[in-house]
Amino acid sequence: TGAEWAKAAELIATARRITVLTGAGVSTDSGIPDFRGPDGVWTRQPETQRLFTLHAYVDDPEVRRRAWRARAEHPAWHAEPNPTHLALVELERSGRLRALLTQNIDELHQRAGSDPGLVVELHGSLFGTVCLTCGARGQMRDALRRLAEGEDDPHCEGCYGILKSTTVSFGQPLDPDVLRRAREAALDCDLLLAAGTSLTVQPAAGLVGLAAQAGAAVLICNAEPTPYDPFASAVLRDPVATTLPELARVPVRDLPRLRMTT
Ligand code: NAD
Repeated sequence: TGAEWAKAAELIATARRITVLTGAGVSTDSGIPDFRGPDGVWTRQPETQRLFTLHAYVDDPEVRRRAWRARAEHPAWHAEPNPTHLALVELERSGRLRALLTQNIDELHQRAGSDPGLVVELHGSLFGTVCLTCGARGQMRDALRRLAEGEDDPHCEGCYGILKSTTVSFGQPLDPDVLRRAREAALDCDLLLAAGTSLTVQPAAGLVGLAAQAGAAVLICNAEPTPYDPFASAVLRDPVATTLPELARVPVRDLPRLRMTT
């Protein structure tokens, strides 16, 4: 509604330190389906959740083989940033972005031009690999080359441990440093803007509650309702490719300075 939009514009105009939290919904316009939206991967094929569950991945070689094929065919390899990613780069230019926390693993924020120092990848990246035994890291490209050469479940070349993408699966903890940086940014902002996320995956979604408890205003841009809508000062349901570019264009309002002396 117009009233909701006016509230949202007011929040953006007066914010001084903005922490953004994005989810799969900011990348659907780049051709990467989300999980839980109407065309989501899990909405259409609920059984594929097993591919993203750590114990199933470790226990079941067939799950690993399917996961490797899914990585090779992942739309992120051919995706380009879209107007929503670019709107967040524009918002950053206003000098008020405290952090860009993302649940996405597609690196499209960085490719759009967001400052890599501000981007916090809560759930890691598709473009790296890690050995679950010795921790050795590598490039996804190299593992997929082995796949193309005929291996169906490439293992660590050092210790023969199980190899996985550097993404966070269900049942796998977030990197503690990453989570610490995200919490600091949630506690140290006056506006938390959540965009394109169902806010159902913890601990990422809880960052919204953390910011709200610390006194930040909350603005949610998502097509569907989220459990955190009651915390929000404004909720915009239009497509993010509409709402974010408009929000990024809202001029910063100069607030009166408090003076101790005249
Ligand atoms: P989700 O699938 O749970 O929720 C996405 C939300 O975005 C949905 O509520 C949907 O209605 C909304 N949405 C989709 N397109 C939109 C649009 N154009 N405008 C407005 N709203 C839109 O995604 P999530 O909350 O990020 O959680 C899913 C998990 O899956 C994340 O942890 C993430 O790591 C992973 N994931 C990542 C990608 C990616 O990297 N692009 C893609 C799919 C899943």
